Amino acid sequence: TLSDRINAAVSSLRGRGRLSDADIAASIAEIRRALLDADVALPVVRDFTATVRERAEAAEVSRALNPAQQIVKIVHEELTRILGGATREISFAKRPPTVIMLAGLQGAGKTTLAGKLGKWLRDAGHTPLLVASDLQRPNAVQQLEIVGRGAGVAVWSPEPGNGVGDPVEVARTGVAHAREQFYDVVVVDTAGRLGIDAELMQQAADIRDAVRPDETFFVIDAMIGQDAVTTANAFAQGVGFTGVVLSKLDGDARGGAALSVSSVTGKPVMFASTGEKVGDFERFHADRMASRILDMGDMMTLIEQAERAFDEDQAAELANKIAGDGDFTLDDFLQQMQQMKQLGSMKKMLGMLPGMGQIREQLENFDEREVDRVEAIVRSMTPGSAPTPRSSTVRAAPASRGAPGRP
Ligand code: GDP
Ligand code: MG
Repeated sequence: TLSDRINAAVSSLRGRGRLSDADIAASIAEIRRALLDADVALPVVRDFTATVRERAEAAEVSRALNPAQQIVKIVHEELTRILGGATREISFAKRPPTVIMLAGLQGAGKTTLAGKLGKWLRDAGHTPLLVASDLQRPNAVQQLEIVGRGAGVAVWSPEPGNGVGDPVEVARTGVAHAREQFYDVVVVDTAGRLGIDAELMQQAADIRDAVRPDETFFVIDAMIGQDAVTTANAFAQGVGFTGVVLSKLDGDARGGAALSVSSVTGKPVMFASTGEKVGDFERFHADRMASRILDMGDMMTLIEQAERAFDEDQAAELANKIAGDGDFTLDDFLQQMQQMKQLGSMKKMLGMLPGMGQIREQLENFDEREVDRVEAIVRSMTPGSAPTPRSSTVRAAPASRGAPGRP
């Protein structure tokens, strides 16, 4: 992978006192090949390698105590820069509703994203409304309704009177409805085609003109490779956008799209989609992505996901039980496993720890079903009925979450 190769290129420099220009040049050449093989756009690669070379040959490296470390730092900083630099917040309208329009090719992940964004906004205290303006695909409206239900977010669908058959009218009435009913954010899902298409662009532009979005997110499948730049440029010209969302970052993407789009269009990546489920979604932080590529781990994202998944009160109660009177039951154990599962797949979690790139093979063999198996065993136990004094640590409790009293 890109990560492996960049790491190999950089670590060949480690442990050397002084670096010759030839050493540095060899490393940079290898990083350059790795980026190209990962489908990163040529102009981006050129810019990146030129800057790294320039900085590496400057005095800051040759005089540094640990030159290899210094190069890692430069590569990290430059990766962060081409990934869009500092994280930008969503710009909310001064007078609600804030309108967020989604644009991108068919299958890019727009409808899925609408649900994820809806839930994320709701969790942040907003009252979002999803608007089904994709009338192209036969089941698109129904898909958004299902997605909305899963996210616990309201959906505006075309009905007689609000623009059946007319996506622009559905969008317009949807935003009007949001204003009347005090939804403060409207997420407009739109149609996509399999390729760049003038009619589609026009429709998206018409929707844009009708709802005047505060943000337009261009959603792009991270697996699309070299086409990423052409597609992004076509949408930048045809519709215009304020931010990028990378979807399917969980797949075997070679990473090129992620590294090219922001840099080529000058728009920041706002979010990353990492799976099909509504929770497989995170803010995008260029510096953290750079750390992941360099296999420096991504502790911040891991910590944030943990905080999101764990109920604070539950955690405190649990801590009390373990530290306090030792009344830690199998029921508590089950609850803990549930929370671990909420953190997403174990592999994904472990992958965010520093240095995990090297034990990727073991990670591949890690069987997540093991967790389910243990859970099934505990669940199959019959709750103990006879009072067993002080043996409460092995008491199985019913699945219902009652107040944990002593037996
Ligand atoms: P749209 O045509 O742009 O609305 O794309 P959809 O939201 O319908 O998504 C197309 C397919 O990609 C669906 O099967 C989704 O479940 C899947 N999908 C969307 N986002 C992701 C993601 O981040 N990871 C993975 N693995 N699949 C995704
Ligand atoms: Mg869709």
